[in-house]
Amino acid sequence: MVEGVSIFRPQTTGEKADYIEVGTKTNMDKFLNKLSTIQQKYMKEYKPFCLRCAKLDFEKKAEEIKTEAQMTGMTSQVEAFDVANLEKYGDKERFELVDVRDVREDKLLDGIRNTVIVGKEYVFKCKIRGCGYKMFVVREEVAKVDEYFGITKKQEVKATKA
Ligand SMILES: [Zn+2]
Repeated sequence: MVEGVSIFRPQTTGEKADYIEVGTKTNMDKFLNKLSTIQQKYMKEYKPFCLRCAKLDFEKKAEEIKTEAQMTGMTSQVEAFDVANLEKYGDKERFELVDVRDVREDKLLDGIRNTVIVGKEYVFKCKIRGCGYKMFVVREEVAKVDEYFGITKKQEVKATKA
């Protein structure tokens, strides 16, 4: 036996924070709170995040546990959903860029109506379940986003035509 390692050791506080038990209303709420915090972080960074997949996986897991509990008769069965792993729903490899278009807005400049480009809308598709994700990016941040996703001008034109 390896010294200091036991599979029955209690979880450390740090580990507990990263895991949320599934299958109860409270746990669903906790999960949704955690999810919205992460989602906001991604939104601020102009990165797509597949909320739909995260929710579906959580529900699937909760359902599995419920079924398992019914089969075994162990209703007190404790299972965890790896919340630390939520970052995978924002992994850029998860998304495929399907469209990029300019977002225009009419603005009055010296009494003359002008159409100005205020930013871009990026449309992504999640490769796992085909979920759509639309993201508006202000003009000032467009270069950063293009760089992050390795979007070249050529690709952009292709994507817009498609
Ligand atoms: Zn998805």
